[in-house]
Amino acid sequence: MLFENQEIKIYNSLSGEKEIFQPITKGYVGMYVCGPTVYSNVHLGNVRTFMSFDMIFRYFKHLGYKVRYVRNITDAGHLENDADLGEDKITKKARVEEIEPMEVVQRYTVDFHNVLNTLNFLPPSIEPTATGHIIEQIELIQTIIDKGLAYVVNGSVYFDVHKYNETNEYGILSKRKLEDLIHNTRSLDGQSDKRNPQDFALWKKAEPTHIMRWSSPWSDGFPGWHLECTAMSTKYLGDRFDIHGGGMDLKFPHHECEIAQCKAAKGNDPVKYWMHANMLEMNGARMSKSSGNYVNPAELFSGDNKIMSKGFSPGVIRFFMMQASYRSILDLTNDGLLAAEKGFNRLMEAINNLDKLVPQASSSFNVSEWKQKCYDAMNDDFNTPILIAHLFEAVKFINLATDNKATITEADLSLLISTINSFVFDILGLKKNNNQDDSGANKLSATIELLIKLRKEARINKDFALSDQIRDELAEVGITLKDHREGTTYSIK
Ligand code: AMP
Ligand code: ZN
Repeated sequence: MLFENQEIKIYNSLSGEKEIFQPITKGYVGMYVCGPTVYSNVHLGNVRTFMSFDMIFRYFKHLGYKVRYVRNITDAGHLENDADLGEDKITKKARVEEIEPMEVVQRYTVDFHNVLNTLNFLPPSIEPTATGHIIEQIELIQTIIDKGLAYVVNGSVYFDVHKYNETNEYGILSKRKLEDLIHNTRSLDGQSDKRNPQDFALWKKAEPTHIMRWSSPWSDGFPGWHLECTAMSTKYLGDRFDIHGGGMDLKFPHHECEIAQCKAAKGNDPVKYWMHANMLEMNGARMSKSSGNYVNPAELFSGDNKIMSKGFSPGVIRFFMMQASYRSILDLTNDGLLAAEKGFNRLMEAINNLDKLVPQASSSFNVSEWKQKCYDAMNDDFNTPILIAHLFEAVKFINLATDNKATITEADLSLLISTINSFVFDILGLKKNNNQDDSGANKLSATIELLIKLRKEARINKDFALSDQIRDELAEVGITLKDHREGTTYSIK
């Protein structure tokens, strides 16, 4: 197996260091990633986090590990406010749209899957839902109460952070101290049931109007958000598993609370390596639904958005994201995407040219050495930007060989082809047929740009009939031109 020769280092957020990856069971990887709360369309920020873990899943699989990858769907319990206040996000959407909460869940779960399919994600091994695991969550709460680390007030159950902290370290992952948290937490209205504001809900009694409710020993209510991940990760991966991932913003309070719940119920943190993907930004600020600073993938594909000059193919977007390390902040810009498009096309063109290379008696490119450099990049905490830099060394060589300025033997050529296929398609998850789509898209884009130019000339010549005809006939086939002070952009329906 390949994994026997490749030593992976993973940055563990818990230790703050890169550690050599030693799976709990040889040859197997158990990985849990917090999934989406399905109350609205996923935005590109969400996609980035899931794509980082898709790439990591793909690499482990490529190395021959048997991977059980669990990524949940949060379909209940996620309140608007991290301090256990506000409405359930899904219930609120159902109220606003006047549909059943489960219709909200269905609509946005389908959207999530469609987006991920378009971007060539592999499906996880198990995709459990919070509502499908209410019994497990109730059992977990009972255990924590029995251990004396949770208390019941007016039908709700809260985790006793202060008591837990007497013998444990609350804040171990996010490097916070309880004293500082006490100092910095405001007492919010509606939290009076809690002994301390830092405590968090394991079970909330439902208001009479709350639709999503289940009976429990304490009240008709619903589970706290942090609980579902503890219940589902340990159910499917066991009380000790290899990797738990999520976006950086989930470190606190979500993952900190997961650790506390698990230690309280089972005596240990089940996770060996905690991994956190960094944020996608736009206009210098984190992409997020609540701030309105976001773009949906469909808007990016079509170009129907206010930020980009045109649409970008799913392959280009995937390539753009893979050009940054999963641990770096990535800023989404028009220039960045245009540059990624160029890079992606260069890579795909070179791959197409591979078939045309004629083997020679000797090689002027050390393929074996280059191949190990590609592995070394991935082994170093999944360093995809370095991997891509190595892939472009190969591109340079292929281009020279295509012009008969470099040579390669038959054996090296076959190794080069199989290695490129592994890294580009299996591990980075780029898609071969994206190339055809993309060259088609490029031709379309060049054609539209030409029409925009002709229209501009028509206007300069005061030939408004022609300029209007160009705009209207493009609109008829679903291409909308938008005039701005800086020029004209377009979107395709
Ligand atoms: P949510 O649906 O809000 O629970 O978020 C789903 C996932 O998307 C979580 O792992 C978040 O950390 C992640 N996420 C949210 N915003 C961003 C962003 N701007 N960049 C990267 N990941 C994000
Ligand atoms: Zn979670």
